[in-house]
Amino acid sequence: MSRVIIAAWIAFFPLAALAAPTWQVISSDQSKRIEIDRTSIKREDGNKVTALGRVVLEKEIVDAKSGSPYKVIEATTRYDCAARSAATLRRVFKKNESEVLRDEEQKPTDLPVRSGTLDDKVLREVCRPAKADAREVAQKANEAAGQLKQANEALVKKEVAKAEKGALPKKIAITPEHPPADPVEPRAAKPAPAAKAPVVQPHATGWMVAVREKKAPAPDHGHATPHWSYEGEGGPENWHRLDPKNVLCATGQRQSPIDIRDGIRVDLEAIKFDYKPSAFRIVDNGHTVQVTPYGGTITVGGKTYELVQFHFHKPAEEKVNGRSFDMVAHLVHRSDEGKLAVVAVLLEKGAEHPVIQTLWNNLPLERNVESSVPQSIDLMALLPENRNYYTYMGSLTTPPCTEGVLWLVLKQPVPVSSEQVAIFARLHRHNARPVQPPAGRLIKDGR
Ligand SMILES: [Zn+2]
Repeated sequence: MSRVIIAAWIAFFPLAALAAPTWQVISSDQSKRIEIDRTSIKREDGNKVTALGRVVLEKEIVDAKSGSPYKVIEATTRYDCAARSAATLRRVFKKNESEVLRDEEQKPTDLPVRSGTLDDKVLREVCRPAKADAREVAQKANEAAGQLKQANEALVKKEVAKAEKGALPKKIAITPEHPPADPVEPRAAKPAPAAKAPVVQPHATGWMVAVREKKAPAPDHGHATPHWSYEGEGGPENWHRLDPKNVLCATGQRQSPIDIRDGIRVDLEAIKFDYKPSAFRIVDNGHTVQVTPYGGTITVGGKTYELVQFHFHKPAEEKVNGRSFDMVAHLVHRSDEGKLAVVAVLLEKGAEHPVIQTLWNNLPLERNVESSVPQSIDLMALLPENRNYYTYMGSLTTPPCTEGVLWLVLKQPVPVSSEQVAIFARLHRHNARPVQPPAGRLIKDGR
């Protein structure tokens, strides 16, 4: 606990000054609990209020910097009641409630607080005129905690019931009903089996801003995901702030894309491609051009994955030894157990490609309107002659950045004409997530 905070107790809560922190639960779910220390709230001159909060994780996370696990993250945040913004001043990573692992002063950056977020709730709480006495405050805190506990219990019950029925709990990011707006989002007709919920991790740049209040589970994700993009406010550096589901975009340790280098040179089994010529559907979903063929599988590592969709990025998201490529096609596959495998076909300016031309010929005139095209495409023709590849474990390259994705990056680029690249550029000038830290992951380089 910092001296500033202790001073704050004495100044504003003289009765509570000698007591231990009073943690009030703001929100909780199976993976974490978010609390605020009522006694830490310090009203500064003007409209600023500083408060100490913490995230207590159910499962510990290994700290990338020190290699040690932590379970508690405390953050001192300064709220501007008039401007409705928040800035993290200090962040402390703890092994448990008392043992400090890492203590970091932050460069305060004021970020807007969106309404309906957890930050919004905390801001309203701390920005109220300070007239309530300590006992009243404590009572209110307990009431709020009780209500939250009840609400969360109800939520957990609902989700468990859903999971038992074989439906995916809401928290699973990879669901067939996820909005089609996600480029690396498979969509399949059959429901996926229940999977384990991914661990929700606090993100790296201010937990309060990222963690939004939990809403009641919706039957599907609908259009609830706030707008994300490749530049400006909705750009990659802010994805984790747009939705709590996107927390891995900031805190994940197995994120994609990466600059592929320093792989181990080994003999890799050939990927067995079984793509049959088929009609397809095509849409410009605002993030990319996405194509849904009918059927097709790959088999690798003794597992068969069904092709669910493919889409494009310009430039290619992945790099190889620092080198970039003009574009890439990501072919997204899913196994029966819901595991994802993405085949990346690097595209490089050269001769015109007939498959790409068929796709471009059939581009819908309007965004978010999917066309069914009876004409057939042969995806075997989109693959390079040499199918040697790099492989590593990564993530979706779009929100919610879900990890556990098997990446298979074909080494030999496939030619597309400059005109074909230019056509895509008219729709999406730049739709590539920047490369992410390899974080010590093993990369296999087929020899
Ligand atoms: Zn992609």
